[in-house]
Amino acid sequence: MDFAFDARTEELRARLDAFMTDRVYPAERVADEQRAALASPWDTPQVVEDLKAEARRQGLWNLFLPDAEHGAGLTNLQYAPLAEITGRSPQLAPTALNCAAPDTGNMEVLAQFGDDEQKKRWLEPLLAGEIRSAFAMTEPEVASSDATNIETRIERDGDDYVINGRKWYISGAMNPLCQIFIVMGKTDPDGADPRRQQSMVLVPRDTPGLTVKRAMQVYGYEDHYHGGHAEVVFEDVRVPVGNLIGEEGGGFGIAQARLGPGRIHHCMRLIGMAERAIELMCRRAVARTAFGKPLAQQGVVQEWIADARVAVEQLRLLVLKTAWLMDTVGNRGAHTEIQAIKIATPRTVVDILDKAVQLHGAGGVSQDFPLAELWAAARTLRLADGPDEVHQRSLARRELKRYL
Ligand SMILES: Cc1cc2nc3c(=O)[nH]c(=O)nc-3n(C[C@H](O)[C@H](O)[C@H](O)COP(=O)(O)OP(=O)(O)OC[C@H]3O[C@@H](n4cnc5c(N)ncnc54)[C@H](O)[C@@H]3O)c2cc1C
Repeated sequence: MDFAFDARTEELRARLDAFMTDRVYPAERVADEQRAALASPWDTPQVVEDLKAEARRQGLWNLFLPDAEHGAGLTNLQYAPLAEITGRSPQLAPTALNCAAPDTGNMEVLAQFGDDEQKKRWLEPLLAGEIRSAFAMTEPEVASSDATNIETRIERDGDDYVINGRKWYISGAMNPLCQIFIVMGKTDPDGADPRRQQSMVLVPRDTPGLTVKRAMQVYGYEDHYHGGHAEVVFEDVRVPVGNLIGEEGGGFGIAQARLGPGRIHHCMRLIGMAERAIELMCRRAVARTAFGKPLAQQGVVQEWIADARVAVEQLRLLVLKTAWLMDTVGNRGAHTEIQAIKIATPRTVVDILDKAVQLHGAGGVSQDFPLAELWAAARTLRLADGPDEVHQRSLARRELKRYL
């Protein structure tokens, strides 16, 4: 039995479901075929551009952005079931709807902290889906889950900032459509407050000194549809001071704000990934026979399917509760629940995907089913969306505080 949402959400959900069935799932294979024929694997297959145009025509566009001026004006609770549906095809659907990371977080930053010129130059084409963007914080040399460690320097020189540093796993940067980087670095490395040392600046891709060095792999996958995850070097990269986002020293605060709504989108989509895994498991279980009976009649398979269903129902309720809390009492009030879903969701969905892979035998680890790639994506989120241990630390500290 499905959860019932308000009329607008239900209407969008029905339209999105139809869009997935009619357009997105059939495009999965076409996109792979088209990519194989492209000059560069980082270019965007035509079918993805077609999906974008169609989604926009159907009003299934920028649904993630709560700000009604630029986006659909949906609450987190309204967006959650829609993001879940896109999670069923995470390579194509979020991009088709202009709701893919890291553009979503970057658009939120620009909408919230950008000045008029920055919005005109970068937010508008991002909202129109004409360009993509990257968020460059993580560095290979330091433990970057602690943002105070960041070593990239952003030094004022007259009317410019000069940037030097090395970043990696910068999602989206391999795609030539990625035209703008939001770069986090230190403007005041010796400042007394470690949370006021950082700033964020906008660096256009074609700025001299910015080099996209190589594509990092994720369990061997290159994530072409996400524009890959690049190592990027900044050597005496010079941008005008007007490219600063917000104020000097405001980078940490902006990064925290960026961890807001956008950061639970992964959890919303993971529920959709788990639903797809359950569907594939059930289809396979009734279609394959081993040792004289369909796999579906094996007790252990029934146990996997039942446990997966129970887990998904629990996770969905927790994700929806978190979304509702964010809407009603704000991100601070939803702190425990945000940490809780970031711990529980990828971990549980990895387990469900693992069972689905097992049930598919060799097919499960192959390129003929989406399961192996979905598993890698879900497993990666146990660290890429902030390591589990950091969320556990944060949740436990809040819990313990009540007893100190
Ligand atoms: C596919 C992918 C895409 C990414 N996209 C981007 C991007 O677009 N932009 C960007 O800037 N970065 C991106 N990242 C980087 C990601 O945000 C970082 O990997 C993450 O923040 C962890 O930082 P780190 O890799 O430096 O790990 P570290 O900070 O070195 O942490 C390593 C491990 O140490 C342990 N640990 C850390 N802190 C604690 C603690 N307090 N208690 C206990 N254990 C702890 C955890 O087990 C953790 O996994 C991406 C990463 C991946 C894999």
